[in-house]
Amino acid sequence: MTVSAVKFLQPAEIQGLPTDDTPLLVLAQPDQLFKDRAARLEYLSTLNGQSAWLKFCSNLALAQAHCLASVEQTLLPEDLAQKALTHSIPPLSITSWVPGSDWDVAFEALCLTLEKEDLPVSVRDILERMRKLNSVELVQQARDLLAANEANVTPEFAPFLGAVLQVMWSKNTEQLKPYLNLHKGESALCPVCGSHPVASIVRTGEADGHRYLVCSLCATQWYGPRARCTNCDSPKEVSLFGETRESFVQGECCDDCHGYLKIMVQSKEPAMEVMADDLASLNLDLALAAEGFQRTGRNLFFITGAAQSKD
Ligand SMILES: [Zn+2]
Ligand SMILES: [Zn+2]
Repeated sequence: MTVSAVKFLQPAEIQGLPTDDTPLLVLAQPDQLFKDRAARLEYLSTLNGQSAWLKFCSNLALAQAHCLASVEQTLLPEDLAQKALTHSIPPLSITSWVPGSDWDVAFEALCLTLEKEDLPVSVRDILERMRKLNSVELVQQARDLLAANEANVTPEFAPFLGAVLQVMWSKNTEQLKPYLNLHKGESALCPVCGSHPVASIVRTGEADGHRYLVCSLCATQWYGPRARCTNCDSPKEVSLFGETRESFVQGECCDDCHGYLKIMVQSKEPAMEVMADDLASLNLDLALAAEGFQRTGRNLFFITGAAQSKD
């Protein structure tokens, strides 16, 4: 695949924060999220010569949906959510996570759900290896995955660790609902948990034409003005690279930090799901890497082992 610059954004496109009541922070609905993701991955797996990898990811997302009810919400201390969001500190920060029974319960729930399925032998083997690992070591790998220390994570464990962490965090975001309007301003990382975005989306519907970044962990969406780099403070406009001018997935590339984040235009592909379509467009990542750009988004089902670009 080759890519070329398809266009520069026009000055009229939305480049600042909205002055009306367009929400700056939108929570995911975890039960719907994982079901939609699984369905989209299932569909994408049937295209272009049947991808066993995307089919596996679909099964994993469906297992996330099925085990969600077995996972308890960890309640934040009173007032913490309000204070944190008011001061632009992620209330469910990945850096202050103290693993406890929350991890054990969620890991066990995902494993039990998966083991009921008709799994390929290779997948069953990976699960068995994870179960045999000392739980301290496994939790350390989960922490390394959260912190983007991907070189410390066993690559074949990553999707399962990521799946457990996504279930835990998305479940915990539900308690933030009353405080969402306390979030103001822009952020390169998720205002709720401090993780990298997976990509950004130009939405249709209620927030038509507005761009949101989507968290790779808790799936919260937060507002990001268009035509600007989401990774650095460059005042220059970004350029878009894609397979064709009409492709709904483009790489939004910055000439200053040489980072890029994918941007997906929902009006061009209403059935899209950000994490699923990111996994299905890894060819674009390869092409942009060949152009000298470094990915700033993350996908917890697919790690590269490389350090994350940030500024
Ligand atoms: Zn998040
Ligand atoms: Zn930049």
